Amino acid sequence: MADECDHAKGIRKATPSALGCEECLKLGSMWVHLRLCRTCGHVGCCDSSPNHHATKHFRKTGHPIIEGYDPPEGWGWCFVDEITLDLTGRTTPQRGPIPRYV
Ligand SMILES: [Zn+2]
Ligand SMILES: [Zn+2]
Ligand SMILES: [Zn+2]
Repeated sequence: MADECDHAKGIRKATPSALGCEECLKLGSMWVHLRLCRTCGHVGCCDSSPNHHATKHFRKTGHPIIEGYDPPEGWGWCFVDEITLDLTGRTTPQRGPIPRYV
């Protein structure tokens, strides 16, 4: 992939902070898709979810790269450059089954 941004070069192996969206699990809320922060391992929900926790995490922390995470789909997204990244071979394994809408 030629169009990889500088942020993507800095991603590391992250350890997921939770099995599902950290904040939604606390709130008892639901999500549509999960996004994993490749800077700190925060698990948040996507913009189709009511709470947009992945985007809120970016606004709060400035961590630029998220990965599609339910299950790992091999793509990422840079919030700063607004481009899709190819993470094939660099995805983060799930820690366990994803809890749904408890
Ligand atoms: Zn970037
Ligand atoms: Zn959430
Ligand atoms: Zn983060």
